[in-house]
Amino acid sequence: MRRMVSALLLFLLLCLALPAIATTLGDVPEVFRTFIEHRYGVIIRMGDECRDCKIETVELMITPEEGTPFQKLAAGEKRFAGLLKNLDHDIAIYPSGFFSRFQPALRFWLADRVLVDGHRVAGCFAYTDGNYEIVLSRLDSDEGSPHHEIWHAMEHFVLEREPDAFGQWDRLNPGGFAYTGVYPDPQDGQSRPEPEDWFADEYAKVSGEEDRATAFRALMTKDAAWWSSRPCLKKKAEFLLEKAEPVFGKLFAGE
Ligand SMILES: [Zn+2]
Repeated sequence: MRRMVSALLLFLLLCLALPAIATTLGDVPEVFRTFIEHRYGVIIRMGDECRDCKIETVELMITPEEGTPFQKLAAGEKRFAGLLKNLDHDIAIYPSGFFSRFQPALRFWLADRVLVDGHRVAGCFAYTDGNYEIVLSRLDSDEGSPHHEIWHAMEHFVLEREPDAFGQWDRLNPGGFAYTGVYPDPQDGQSRPEPEDWFADEYAKVSGEEDRATAFRALMTKDAAWWSSRPCLKKKAEFLLEKAEPVFGKLFAGE
């Protein structure tokens, strides 16, 4: 009996000690990642795992870590804790079951830097071999970036069902406006002028796709006071919801 009690005590002690040991070794992001994957039905790959990402035209840069294989793993996971936190913050506000509409799954690839055609970007979306892939840069993305890329995935989903869904989009822009077609580097953002009512930011003027993604990000992040001074952009946001909600359901509770 005493032996059984000792064994039980040892077991309880180990149960208490193991999480503490694990925490000091830096695997909290691993627990966090697993939680997010199960809670929202998405797949997350980060750091060294991005070497398996096979998206043409997109280059994922991974900072090499020093040390033993285990030390590299622990350091990499610690490095991506901030980006995981942003991702969790953003995807938590979508309605239940939202991400399971992307079949087989919506995959997030978290890299240190992301290059598209040699240019640094905050993130990007790609649909490859039937997979919905979102890539996010740890160094160039911020809180809100996941919303922008999620819209690109939503738009792809909508267009598969309604190919001309955004055919009338340009009518929501000011007369004579034409998209620039030039993708600026994210670092250029500091010197941009304030955008007019029609656009959520200067980047929106690149193309219709980027305009819609930035408007959607604003929809998910900005408050009523911000929107009250932007009636033209609001019309664009309402158009997005009109196209998205028949396939994704209501995005905002109480609407
Ligand atoms: Zn974009």
